[in-house]
Amino acid sequence: KSTIDKIAAGEVVERPSSVVKELVENAIDAGASAITVEIKDGGKSYIRITDNGCGIPEDELSVAFMRHSTSKLRDASELADIHTLGFRGEALSSISAVSRVEMITKPADTLMGVRYVIEGSKEVSLDKIGAPDGTTIMVYQLFFNTPARKKFLKTDTTEASYISELMERLALSHPDISFCFISNKKEKIHTSGNGNLMDTIYQIYGRQIASNLLAVEKETDLLKVSGFIGNSNVARGNRSLENFYINGRYIKSPLLSKSVEEGYVGYLMQHQYPFCVLMITTKEASVDVNVHPTKQEVRFDDEMAIADIFKSLIFERLYQRED
Ligand code: ADP
Ligand code: MG
Repeated sequence: KSTIDKIAAGEVVERPSSVVKELVENAIDAGASAITVEIKDGGKSYIRITDNGCGIPEDELSVAFMRHSTSKLRDASELADIHTLGFRGEALSSISAVSRVEMITKPADTLMGVRYVIEGSKEVSLDKIGAPDGTTIMVYQLFFNTPARKKFLKTDTTEASYISELMERLALSHPDISFCFISNKKEKIHTSGNGNLMDTIYQIYGRQIASNLLAVEKETDLLKVSGFIGNSNVARGNRSLENFYINGRYIKSPLLSKSVEEGYVGYLMQHQYPFCVLMITTKEASVDVNVHPTKQEVRFDDEMAIADIFKSLIFERLYQRED
């Protein structure tokens, strides 16, 4: 069993940032309004995620760590969506197969919490314990029993930067949740969770970027877009400030990036890339976001039409302001 879990873990858990992604998504699914992520050494030695969500009842706890166990399917019609939604029931089992996991959890309607320890898929202990409402999960020594995977990790600094970028994206797509990210005892990100996207951008990126933004909004028969674009004052030499979300999910798309950049023609110097946070809602099945649940790829049926929408969206908005 533990071998199968280890193999399955390879699918879900590639590096510390994939652990953080799965666990923060669980906290979001649990209805948390505040989520704190703390890491040490790029997440290789320590990852802790604390949420104030619904918690897990004691009698469901060890089941939650079994493969393909999920509490998130309500009826059969949702089965088709399993992969899209990421409700695969694999995260906890996969993570605990390749690390030592300690979880402390307490639903609001119980008096005592529970502390559960599992290491390399083997249960170590389950005890009652006093705890605040919600869940804290700690992941120690990731890949301690899969040396090949461990060797493939990058430096602590690089792994920490992947997690930091992930936290930025998660915070941007959930302005109504307060996110705190701490790396090696230093607070890197802290958002208020007041629901306002512009405030969230300010809290993540600071004044220089937030004071140079234009709001954009457009609706066509294919999709709806809303968000903010930055003018050339905040341009960077890479695409790290281009943030696209489709139906709430962060994606990378050379097509969208190029279209937005072309919309900026005349505003950007060579090798400069703009800032944007664009939330896209599709209206038709013309977008195939579902290439792989853990990947960020996206496919469009009509690439030309999509490219045109984004080019003109940016161009019109920039041009308008000049007038
Ligand atoms: P999935 O999220 O696909 O259901 P996971 O392995 O990530 O699978 O989690 C298994 C189950 O554990 C979830 O369905 C949920 O019931 C429970 N769970 C995990 N994390 C949390 C959390 N932070 N708060 C409350 N419940 C959680
Ligand atoms: Mg999950």
